[in-house]
Amino acid sequence: MIKITLPDGSEREYETGSTSLEIAKSISEGLARKVLAASINGEVYDITKPITEDAVFKLLTWDDSEGKSTFWHSSAHLMAEAVQSVFPHAKFWVGPAIDKGFYYDIDLGDTKMSEDDLIGLEKKMNELAKQNNSFNRKAMPKAEAINYFKEKGDEYKLDLLNNLKDGEISFYTQGNFTDLCRGPHIPSTGFIKAIKLTSIAGAYWKGDEKNKQLTRIYGVTFPNQKELEEYLLMLEEAKKRDHRKLGKELSIFTMDDDVGQGLPLWMPNGTIIIEELEKLAKETESAAGYKRVVTPHIAKESMYLTSGHLPYYADSMFPPMELDGTKYYLKAMNCPHHHKIFDAEPKSYKDLPYRIAEYGTCYRYEQSGELFGLMRVRCLHMNDAHIYCSKDQFGAEFRAVNEMYLKYFKIFGIDKYVMRLSLHDPSKLGQKYVNEPELWKETEAMVRQVLIESNIPYVEVQDEAAFYGPKIDVQIWSAIGREFTLATNQVDFNSGNKFKLSYTTQHNTTEVPLIIHRAPLGTHERFIGFLLEHYAGKFPIWIAPLQVKILPISDKFMDYANKVVQHLKKADIRAEIDDRNEKIGKKIRDTELLKVPYMLVIGEKEMNEEQVSIRRQGKGDIGVKGLIEFIEEISLEIMERRVE
Ligand SMILES: [Zn+2]
Ligand SMILES: [Zn+2]
Repeated sequence: MIKITLPDGSEREYETGSTSLEIAKSISEGLARKVLAASINGEVYDITKPITEDAVFKLLTWDDSEGKSTFWHSSAHLMAEAVQSVFPHAKFWVGPAIDKGFYYDIDLGDTKMSEDDLIGLEKKMNELAKQNNSFNRKAMPKAEAINYFKEKGDEYKLDLLNNLKDGEISFYTQGNFTDLCRGPHIPSTGFIKAIKLTSIAGAYWKGDEKNKQLTRIYGVTFPNQKELEEYLLMLEEAKKRDHRKLGKELSIFTMDDDVGQGLPLWMPNGTIIIEELEKLAKETESAAGYKRVVTPHIAKESMYLTSGHLPYYADSMFPPMELDGTKYYLKAMNCPHHHKIFDAEPKSYKDLPYRIAEYGTCYRYEQSGELFGLMRVRCLHMNDAHIYCSKDQFGAEFRAVNEMYLKYFKIFGIDKYVMRLSLHDPSKLGQKYVNEPELWKETEAMVRQVLIESNIPYVEVQDEAAFYGPKIDVQIWSAIGREFTLATNQVDFNSGNKFKLSYTTQHNTTEVPLIIHRAPLGTHERFIGFLLEHYAGKFPIWIAPLQVKILPISDKFMDYANKVVQHLKKADIRAEIDDRNEKIGKKIRDTELLKVPYMLVIGEKEMNEEQVSIRRQGKGDIGVKGLIEFIEEISLEIMERRVE
């Protein structure tokens, strides 16, 4: 018998050699019909694989990320089968699952494929999926596999085989298609109920431009039609909300070739957003006991040798400037500068926790192919801070940082978020991870405890920590369900040693502080890019570049319009008058396009009674109010930073 431990911690006994499918059936027939794969002691397998030892066990369905990737990788095989039936001479390289869907790199010989061919391929895939062919695994000795592909004349699979050991080679067949693959796969093609091939592109074999260019076909599949339709709708909406498009339409930022790639210029509207974000951060951090600092944009090579950024991180830094025989680098992170501030004056336990914050400007050399709007840039402004504390203080400090994230999520109306807790691998201490076994255990346990107690959804991932401590990657979802990586929250028990930082304890001994690196609002670049999509450019009033637009019906009311704008400005409200000689209908339509939260229409009646006629973005006409009453109401809306 074998012992199977289920995710809820319960244990069950099964006959040795039982399969995941049998275990699923013993739990529930309904579940068994949905199971795509199974995680056995942390590895994902086909559900037909016999289990021969005790295992920590999880059935994977469409709701699990590993379930989805197995589904999508299997869809890549299905697509290959369809391609092979249309282009029998096609040769296949690799077909992995990706973030959302899958692709396959294919050598089509002299045949050229276009987007138009994708519809035919989709049709073929649907046909093949309906046949509900099962994915059958077959292990094969290496020599036999080599012979098989030599006969086929398939140099791609022969290349893959070169890197595989004898004894670990397997083939998967579904219908008329056989592929070299380590698996796992879903049980059969019938699970794939909705198919969309999204695009076609050229891709150099092994990503090397000296090699032959293969055809890469991207696709995405779902277990039902409804999810595909929702996904296509989301894509369409994402296009409308594209931060590069909105950034231009709303005059938020611009790029200029003379300035350089990946170096955004913030226009007046974008600068207002930046200033509002910084105001929020300063208020929040001040209340949480942080002090502000300012540091230079460059530093000498010697500091980056101490921090270890050089030579390891050199590829991501701009090349050095040489002056009087000394090399200077643009800073890629603020941490070393902050460590120097900690070190500038002697510290005792009374000074801890020592929290210093800065919206620091960093420069990173991203490859030009990697640059993307505001999401991947070479100059970034980080909502940075470092907390230096004792081990005893660590738990409370880490909790406070997490609470700050949650506070921000509420302000910005971010309802969906997950924290990824990245842990170390004890077998790699001293190589991939700093050799502090006890500290790793302690801090990981404390971080986990904080996440559990604050009721924050999180997942744990092994062997993905930073070199110097466990970290949390924060994933957030925009209003249309797209995922963004916001920021990392890291524990560091190494830099203190490297920079010889210390403080005097109550017992007059010397200790090295623990350091927390945190940036809840990430960078201005990425966060504003996210907000543009999240709000579709319709910013909440507190952060909107222009808060109120005054639309006089004709020139006759300009004096009153001026009076209104003066009152608004006195109350610190960003307002301006549309003084163009246009019909009121056109003024309203144009202001709608600029997504200004409030419009005040002003005519005879409003002027005589010192009132304003109010239109709210997205709601239309919301009635008439006294000018003073209106100002009081929106001042409150701004002060409370209401989402709507
Ligand atoms: Zn496969
Ligand atoms: Zn840092």
